[in-house]
Amino acid sequence: MRNCCGKIGARWCSLWFSPAGGDRPGHALFGIQQGGLERDLRGESAEALREIGFEGYAVGGLAVGEGQEKMFDCLDYAPDMLPKDKPRYLMGVGKPDDIVGAVARGIDMMDCVLPSRSGRTGQVFTRRGVVNIKNARHAEDPRPLDEACSCPACRSYSRAYLHHVFRSQEIISSMLLTWHNLHYYQELMAEMRDAIAADDFAGFEARFHETRAMGDIDPI
Ligand SMILES: [Zn+2]
Repeated sequence: MRNCCGKIGARWCSLWFSPAGGDRPGHALFGIQQGGLERDLRGESAEALREIGFEGYAVGGLAVGEGQEKMFDCLDYAPDMLPKDKPRYLMGVGKPDDIVGAVARGIDMMDCVLPSRSGRTGQVFTRRGVVNIKNARHAEDPRPLDEACSCPACRSYSRAYLHHVFRSQEIISSMLLTWHNLHYYQELMAEMRDAIAADDFAGFEARFHETRAMGDIDPI
């Protein structure tokens, strides 16, 4: 049996899992729950997957344009239909607030192109929300993207420099912005792991949304 997330044609999908993967060291065979936004179909799919038995389970068929509200509505019940003692993976997600909301609903893993694709298009994720480095307000700004970030792009380069190299279509712009975005995502995941270990995920979630609501630092 083979399966994939069903989002794109199988020929292009990098998320195929083969039965042979199940006994290769470092690889795991995941069963992928389908059923769209229909609760009964999700249940039927989960039951069939549990009967087969997998090393991990994925929630497929979401983040395909249904919007965050409908995705969260589905995640309010879909992960609970899958075994809690196995990794539960949400395919193709997502923006930082999608990730935090998904983890709050029981998701352990996810994958997405966003940190690198956004880096290439000048979109930067920070604790205080999204920064668009191509905006003119950054042209003379000597401050880093995020004062609290320890990534090389923030430690060694100003917003003004990053704005200039992005506008000049220099490849270093994609590299530095992607570097920062990946660092931000890594830190976000680490903070969520710490919050779960400290039994304070609700506190983390509140602080996450509060800081984002502040918006970017004021222009100079
Ligand atoms: Zn950074």
